[in-house]
Amino acid sequence: MQKMLLKILAIFSAIMLIILSWLFFNQENQVINSKLQISVSSYPLYFFAKNITGDQATIINLSKAGTDPHDYEPSSGDLKQIANSKLLIVNGNKFETWLNKFGELISQENTTIIKVAPESDPHTWLDPNLAIKQVELINAKLQELDPVNATIYQNNANQLLNKLIELDQDFQKTLQKCQNTQVISTHNALGYLAARYHFQQITIEDQNSHGDLSPTTLARIIETAKQNKIQTVLSEPLENQKAAATIAEEIDGEVLAFDPIENLAPDKIQRNADYFSLQKENLATLQKALNCQAQ
Ligand SMILES: [Zn+2]
Repeated sequence: MQKMLLKILAIFSAIMLIILSWLFFNQENQVINSKLQISVSSYPLYFFAKNITGDQATIINLSKAGTDPHDYEPSSGDLKQIANSKLLIVNGNKFETWLNKFGELISQENTTIIKVAPESDPHTWLDPNLAIKQVELINAKLQELDPVNATIYQNNANQLLNKLIELDQDFQKTLQKCQNTQVISTHNALGYLAARYHFQQITIEDQNSHGDLSPTTLARIIETAKQNKIQTVLSEPLENQKAAATIAEEIDGEVLAFDPIENLAPDKIQRNADYFSLQKENLATLQKALNCQAQ
């Protein structure tokens, strides 16, 4: 009899354990699923959205780390992720050409799309002053879509905005007194920075392509560099380094790394680099390339 009771007790405990674990996991799933899901097209937008939302949202960077978002095309899995997102944040214009193909389909799926770069040049995030405008747009849209967490978003956004204001002041101060006024860049990403901090970029590519250099373009850049006594070539980590090396050799100059921060390269992830640390490295590169006095 006692044996029988023990057996029943053991079966009862096992059933209870199964029910409890089912309840627990189900609840955990519900917590994950109830989180606001946001898809973004590149790392800077991921960084801004993540800093504003903190733990309140799941942010998916569609163009994976180490890849070039200029060349991104969504997979069917990505389209599913976008459809499950309440918000899709993109730069707009020519940066996400895939939107021409899929934009209408995405809008039908109840996903709000916001574009946060109003001009034709998509590299808005590189100018801290324009990044501020992007953060303000993202913050406003998040509060509209998720009013319950509006105060959290506003407080986080304020901290992020303060850091961007500081970064803008750093750029202004560091690039104030420089011997040179021109830099060569293998990627046409410095237009906004050049306009705001008063220098000129001589560039090889158009804003959205990473194509190979034609001999004519190469010759033109080398000639301009020689005429203007430019000694440095800025090159980005996610692209072919050959063009930069060829120019540097011809002008007897050096190649310096400038990261347009479109996505994080694997080595940057490994050393925990982020938007702010990479912008500081970019500023040091510009200071060297433009030969600016320390202020
Ligand atoms: Zn670019």
